[in-house]
Amino acid sequence: MKSRLGRFRELLADAGVDAVIISQPENRRYLSGFTGSAGHLLVGPNFAILATGFRYIEQAGQEAPDFEVWRINGSLVPALRELVRKLAVRRLGFEAHAVTYQIYREWGRYLRGRGVRLVPLRGLVEQLRAVKDEEEVGLIRKAAEITDQTLAAVLSNLKFGVTERELAWQIERTMRELGADGPSFRPIVATGPNAARPHHPPGDRRIQPGDIVLIDIGAAFGGYHSDLTRTFVFGRPDDKFLEVWRVVAEANEVARQAARPGASAAEVDAAAREVIKAAGYGENFGHGLGHGVGLVIHEGPRLGPKSEDKLAAGMVFTIEPGIYLPGWGGVRIEDLVVLRDYGVEVISQSPKFPALEV
Ligand code: ZN
Ligand code: ZN
Repeated sequence: MKSRLGRFRELLADAGVDAVIISQPENRRYLSGFTGSAGHLLVGPNFAILATGFRYIEQAGQEAPDFEVWRINGSLVPALRELVRKLAVRRLGFEAHAVTYQIYREWGRYLRGRGVRLVPLRGLVEQLRAVKDEEEVGLIRKAAEITDQTLAAVLSNLKFGVTERELAWQIERTMRELGADGPSFRPIVATGPNAARPHHPPGDRRIQPGDIVLIDIGAAFGGYHSDLTRTFVFGRPDDKFLEVWRVVAEANEVARQAARPGASAAEVDAAAREVIKAAGYGENFGHGLGHGVGLVIHEGPRLGPKSEDKLAAGMVFTIEPGIYLPGWGGVRIEDLVVLRDYGVEVISQSPKFPALEV
């Protein structure tokens, strides 16, 4: 935590502020260790304050030993009053993406008459969070391990006639039994033509012989997340499915080869997209190649055609090309990876297979 705080403080001068209010829950947790659901951090070059309510005072002291804990009662204004009086803050940054207009107005009304300017900032902590330390990679690895084990357990029991919804519940239950905090997101179970919808919510459709089954799941562990997709036919796949599956598998492989420190996220996306385009399915891959995974299931870096992110060693992200054909179904193959100096280390261990024999 100390080194995170140190690296964060180095960003303050460049951002042109004397201090920053951190309000986004995962950013608060990342910098302080505090896991409570309410509070703000006030961080400057020589102070680190965690302002939170009565419910969390004891927990805050235990979880965030590098922070001075201030008790507030809802509004942050009394703490801001102390801050301005004691610590001579003139330019105070805040997270523009995490503060409501109402709260911004409340702070602004108080600070305006006192010569303090509120400076909107974006993505300052997120920028640090994109590169993981080994402790974080360890937690993500554990979350991914539970995800792999869950998929294996559920597939070994898969029977015709089970509905998408029932399968999704088996997945959630298995994750919890294997030690997950819970699912990272509502499991996606799409069967038959439903697999053409990348984020299909599980419904009452029953799995039938020869169906495409697309399962996209992730477990949460220790605050961190994981993300995995496998697609296969339950029974005998036809030539069309095998062709589409192989193109997606190749796009996944090509992207893994292209990802290295210094590469632009857009160029890695383009490498995978080219494989799909060359096979004639360019129009059917309508989402980005991947996203960072950490304290939040979708975070930086973003891998897509318009991304301006650069990849760096220590980043954890997904590689998830897909082809979706309305009325027919779809295939997505998603792995979680961590970028090393030499290239990609794949965290997801689930085997990739186009068909599950019945
Ligand atoms: Zn996913
Ligand atoms: Zn994903």
